[in-house]
Amino acid sequence: MSVEKPNPLDTALYQLKATAEILNLDEGIHNILKYPKRSLAVSIPVRMDNGPIQVFMGWRVQHHDARGPFKGGVRYHPKVTLDEITALAMWMTWKCAIVDIPYGGAKGGVCCNPKQMSLRELEHLTRRYATMILDLIGPYRDVPAPDIYTNEQTMAWIMDTYSQFKGYSVPESVTGKPPIIGGFKQREDATSRGVMFCIREATRRLGTRMKDSVVAVQGFGSVGWNAARILHEEGCRIVAVSDSKGGIYNRDGVNPLSVFEHKRKTGSVIGYAGSKQITNRELIELDCDILVPAAMENQVTRKNAPNVKAQIVAEAANGPTTPEADRILHEKGVFIIPDILANSGGVTSSYFEWVQNLTRERWTEEKVNEKQETMMVKAFNDVYSLSKKRETHMRLAALMLGIGRVAEAIKTLGVWP
Ligand code: NAD
Repeated sequence: MSVEKPNPLDTALYQLKATAEILNLDEGIHNILKYPKRSLAVSIPVRMDNGPIQVFMGWRVQHHDARGPFKGGVRYHPKVTLDEITALAMWMTWKCAIVDIPYGGAKGGVCCNPKQMSLRELEHLTRRYATMILDLIGPYRDVPAPDIYTNEQTMAWIMDTYSQFKGYSVPESVTGKPPIIGGFKQREDATSRGVMFCIREATRRLGTRMKDSVVAVQGFGSVGWNAARILHEEGCRIVAVSDSKGGIYNRDGVNPLSVFEHKRKTGSVIGYAGSKQITNRELIELDCDILVPAAMENQVTRKNAPNVKAQIVAEAANGPTTPEADRILHEKGVFIIPDILANSGGVTSSYFEWVQNLTRERWTEEKVNEKQETMMVKAFNDVYSLSKKRETHMRLAALMLGIGRVAEAIKTLGVWP
């Protein structure tokens, strides 16, 4: 594999192999886990606003469902590939097991550039995609959610398309939908709140404190901007944030709310008053206590890992650290909160949304927040305790916990026939 920007699937398989060896996993079960249970490739024709038909490639990959229905986001990105989606589906399987919710792992993706598409084109793309994967999804089969460049509106279109085919409303068919149709407010920043809980627990274990920490956040989308805002509210100093166009830095800290307002008006964080422009690469190497990658895969690589100065790397994004960089950071003594733990607050909150939809109940904000904190802190403690017991780092401990639980479930179910 390319060590600089590895294929995410190579990374996921490498992690699985290393963990299987340590767990002494049965070879047959290891082989089962290497492959997704089901992958569907679809072509999605859309009549564009200017007349011609354009055809987009899309996928839905269902990795494993031994612990419950498949669950996973849908990513729209011009560079998305089947391998990337397969890796993300595998990570979802481990993630749901770590936080101990009754789901398996899946992921979807469409190769497109939503930034260059109108709302009408995006609606047609989404509804046609939903129609093409309709037989695979559903509340007890596979429940989609938002991911990169998809949002509440995307989920509303998928829910409506699914419901139209069923003939009745099925809010439990997706999560991360708008509150008016069965979503709930806290889902929006649940991933980022979970990241904050993990950072808080990590600082406690390291004998430091989260308040007053200097933080750099890469990516200013749903997860990145909310993480910056929540950490700011908790008393951290946010010195840098970035998006796909580049980053901004101010040693004295920026107010994420006003950066958000600036990005809403101008389309980027760049040019924010009083800040210095930096590159995404410079952001990774900044002098800070906590680095939060919240954008794409392969951002911390063997090239920049030696220059990382943060004491804690909280992986809000999926797969932001390459295996080589992981080794370098570990040797440097950086405390990594691995993606499959750090960003599991999103799927935890999706689970709460799904349960409320299935039972037709509405929980209070307090109940949701309390439940999320309890589950995230428990997941952090489970991984941390295992890392201490097995004298290993947090990523391997998280993989051991997640993969171990899924393997146990497969063993218990048996291989039919
Ligand atoms: P998003 O589309 O809302 O935001 C993505 C952000 O990343 C944007 O600000 C974009 O400008 C920026 N970006 C894109 N390419 C970049 C690059 N090369 N360098 C720097 N910034 C870049 O997506 P999101 O939902 O916030 O997802 C971000 C990450 O978090 C992804 O890895 C996703 O899989 C992961 N994640 C999301 C959720 C969720 O609930 N949305 C849950 C778990 C994990």
